[in-house]
Amino acid sequence: MFTDSLLKGKNVLLTGAGGGIGKSITELLVKAGAKVIGTGTQEAKLEDLAKTLPQKQFLYFTADLDNSEQVENMYARAESLVEKIDILICNAGITRDNLTLRMKEEEWSKVININLTSVFKLNQAACKKMMKHRSGVIVNISSVIGFTGNLGQVNYSAAKAGMIGMSKSIALEVANFGIRVNCIAPGFIKTPMTEKLTEAQQSAIISRVPLARMGTPADVANAALFLASDASSYMTGSTLHVNGGLYMA
Ligand code: NAD
Repeated sequence: MFTDSLLKGKNVLLTGAGGGIGKSITELLVKAGAKVIGTGTQEAKLEDLAKTLPQKQFLYFTADLDNSEQVENMYARAESLVEKIDILICNAGITRDNLTLRMKEEEWSKVININLTSVFKLNQAACKKMMKHRSGVIVNISSVIGFTGNLGQVNYSAAKAGMIGMSKSIALEVANFGIRVNCIAPGFIKTPMTEKLTEAQQSAIISRVPLARMGTPADVANAALFLASDASSYMTGSTLHVNGGLYMA
């Protein structure tokens, strides 16, 4: 479906590049010809990823999305490494699960801050620059949980649902500047984030998935490549559901 030059000459800023899904997105986008600037909190993971990729096509730096100063500087820092950013992919995210009645203020705020507020700030920074260029693509990684809710994930589902509404509003505001904003809502994907689930929990989830397996990071990366490229040039304000049929929107 995709050619190796689909993103030739494009510069991408990707958060959470060292994580399960981020690594796969990086590998695929680099294969499609893009230069990826990956950020994350774990330098060793970014360094390991860099060793597997052509030097000119992957640059990285660490930045904490829970630190407002680092979030505010991230876009400019990334742009100082390349001429301009063509594609922003907000992929980093965390969970701090707890039942509503037990949820601590800190668990709520940390998830909202990293999974929603930092995404807003990066989208805002991207739009300011992309409006001047009159082109650009933003892909925000939400979750099926933002649509269905989940026991013990009130903070996470609020952030991921918030991201959907936020992305639609931004998409409306910037469409006439040639900027597209879309989301991906992955289902249960095999990454360090879901490794925390017990085998029994994983089997219970798989039994509810019509395609009868957990997704792979590559399943999400394929959707990211599609939304990042001109193959999706008539899409904005949309969400791609990559969940094996677990939730049919
Ligand atoms: P992961 O835990 O493997 O990776 C998460 C990434 O986020 C890591 O690179 C980490 O460094 C980065 N990160 C965490 N806290 C950060 C912070 N404070 N500052 C900067 N970076 C930070 O998780 P994943 O499964 O690859 O998830 C990637 C995205 O996909 C997340 O937004 C997640 O919510 C979403 N998602 C995952 C699943 C799944 O089943 N794995 C399902 C739906 C949505």
